[in-house]
Amino acid sequence: MARLADFIDRYRVTNGKHFRLKDYDPADTRGVKSKQRAEELLREGTQRLSEMQDKLYAQDRWALLIVIQAMDAAGKDGLIKHVMSGVNPQGCQVTSFKVPSTEELDHDFLWRTTRALPERGRIGIFNRSHYEEVLVVRVHPQILTSQKVPPPLVTQDIWKERFEDINAFERHQTRNGTIIRKFFLYVSKKEQKRRFLSRLDEPEKNWKFSAADVRERERWDDYMDAYEDMIRHTASKHAPWYVVPADNKWFTRIVVAAAIVDTLDDLKLEYPQVDPIKRRELAAARRLLLSGDRGGKGRTSS
Ligand code: AMP
Ligand code: MG
Repeated sequence: MARLADFIDRYRVTNGKHFRLKDYDPADTRGVKSKQRAEELLREGTQRLSEMQDKLYAQDRWALLIVIQAMDAAGKDGLIKHVMSGVNPQGCQVTSFKVPSTEELDHDFLWRTTRALPERGRIGIFNRSHYEEVLVVRVHPQILTSQKVPPPLVTQDIWKERFEDINAFERHQTRNGTIIRKFFLYVSKKEQKRRFLSRLDEPEKNWKFSAADVRERERWDDYMDAYEDMIRHTASKHAPWYVVPADNKWFTRIVVAAAIVDTLDDLKLEYPQVDPIKRRELAAARRLLLSGDRGGKGRTSS
């Protein structure tokens, strides 16, 4: 029977040199047929995640950044909700990146993501990220104009330069204790159509539908080329991409949960050790509590 750890290697890209999207199947479920088994696996994943997050927070040394990228309707929001369901909200920060504001456009393209990075001890989730800068902006290069980059700096090499800068940024973060894991939820064009139609057909899903999404869909092939090139240039050992099959939402969730659990496992997290001074402090506090509250009159709350 499949274990959680079995769902990672197949989808992890640590070196993008020979990466091709067509080697991956959005409908893959790696032989897991029963949804019930999938739910058990996810429950196991979220349980372990919750335990490890508690230690991560207590230690206050490492941070974990989870980057999620995908085409519309691939299931980003639901994924975040399900995978993080057991996690203490205090230790977790979700940031959604939309079309940049005027203030954001007044800065370099990594400014807003840098500001949203998780603090030590926290898990940060980027729902879209700095990678939009080599995806939507690449598919619609006219967006570059609104970014106000001085024209002599916008050359043929701009995408290559952005990949380099993203890699340097991620290496810098890694070297300072922020672990980065990146997930591309790979949905098929056919499944996206099905999900768009259900957004139109079901009143409680209407709000999720945006006409712009259908226009982006027309550029599907350009987006896939951009995703492929992005993974080729930005997959690394320290900040790998996971190409996660996304036609079955329950499967997407297991893969992502497994990858996060595996990542935190590698940190061998433990609660901080109490040193002798702290131990004496704890012992003194215990004595004080047990000796009864002498001095001030204990006030009751009425
Ligand atoms: P949604 O996630 O569906 O709410 O949509 C957010 C929209 O913001 C998407 O269409 C993204 O492509 C767009 N977006 C996010 N980041 C950028 C960016 N850096 N430049 C331009 N558009 C962006
Ligand atoms: Mg959308």
